[in-house]
Amino acid sequence: MNIGIAGAGLAGRLCALLLSQQGHQVQVFDKASHPTDPVAAGFTAAGMLSHVAELESGDEHIYNLGVRSLELWKHIVPQLDAPVSLHYKGSLMVAHRGDEGAAQRLISLLERKAPVDQKPIKLTTEQLKAEEPSISGPAHAWALQNEGHIHTREAMYALYASCKNTLWHWQTPVQKLKANKIITDRETFTFDWVFDTRGVGARELKFANTHTLSCQNVRGVRGEILWLQAPALALQRPIRLLHPRYRVYLVPRQPDILFVGASEIESEDRSPISVRTTVELLTAAHSVLPELAEARIIHTETNLRPALIDNFPRIETAPGISRINGLFRHGWLIAPATVEQALKEVLGAEYTVI
Ligand SMILES: Cc1cc2nc3c(=O)[nH]c(=O)nc-3n(C[C@H](O)[C@H](O)[C@H](O)COP(=O)(O)OP(=O)(O)OC[C@H]3O[C@@H](n4cnc5c(N)ncnc54)[C@H](O)[C@@H]3O)c2cc1C
Repeated sequence: MNIGIAGAGLAGRLCALLLSQQGHQVQVFDKASHPTDPVAAGFTAAGMLSHVAELESGDEHIYNLGVRSLELWKHIVPQLDAPVSLHYKGSLMVAHRGDEGAAQRLISLLERKAPVDQKPIKLTTEQLKAEEPSISGPAHAWALQNEGHIHTREAMYALYASCKNTLWHWQTPVQKLKANKIITDRETFTFDWVFDTRGVGARELKFANTHTLSCQNVRGVRGEILWLQAPALALQRPIRLLHPRYRVYLVPRQPDILFVGASEIESEDRSPISVRTTVELLTAAHSVLPELAEARIIHTETNLRPALIDNFPRIETAPGISRINGLFRHGWLIAPATVEQALKEVLGAEYTVI
């Protein structure tokens, strides 16, 4: 088939890769100026693959998409034509003495929702020291043993570079999409099937809300993140600080970079990181890793997570057109399985990535 994809973000690149692997001719349209121009939220993300921790706000559906996606990333990444760091070393949740009330409420929730073999495991101080010697301060720690993390910028590039039979139209905003058609300000393109993966760029669309039977627009949820250069720190896995007022995570990015994130603000403002977020995130990060005092802030970034009102993802398929949206704050966790599901609806139920 001739396939058109509007949006070369995370979902669009995965669609392009999987369809091109099936021998389809693919064209992708994006308003970004080149393949590594970080317009898509996919570039900004920390890349935590946290199927258990996301049970805090997600349900069984997100959990199952996450579990399937962990399996799919393991299959997809080794096939890519450029290197991508992908680790399954688990993640840690830590809490300071005095914050155990708030921490314990979350841990109890995860213990209730997670299957037996995925429940948080309480660590002793010695075990925490052995796992992550740089952590100093938190009195409580739990391990989520099967979680992972992926280098999102490497993966965004590698997904693009590995698509065969694919024509990329950069600096080409899509004005309108309908069944079999992608319309830009210069031309109308006709395809056998089109995919709308524009994330927040698809704001004008109404998606059905299956719970209330009403319709809802896509919205952007602001997220701010800091990159720290900390050569002395050898953090092995993502760390979440369970704090009564805010959630903070630290994610290692090899060789000496650490991500500290992320705010979650109901706003579509993409202006630079605020002083308040910077102070809160860095204070919290420093309270877990005192050695960060000498780290350097080398980059900050703000982007918008594409979300629907219930914060659940949607696939909508009609003849000649599919829409994938609402990946919200767990796009990297759930995108491979979500895209696989969308492709089943187009190519037939027998289609699977593996
Ligand atoms: C700060 C932050 C941290 C995050 N951390 C994590 C994490 O740790 N783990 C995790 O699983 N997820 C995380 N996410 C979420 C994840 O990044 C998103 O869910 C995911 O990127 C959404 O993918 P998408 O393809 O739907 O949208 P995007 O990746 O945003 O891609 C949309 C694409 O559409 C293009 N586009 C838009 N409008 C048009 C148009 N009119 N014409 C042409 N092109 C258009 C854009 O240029 C963009 O390339 C994070 C997000 C943020 C912002």
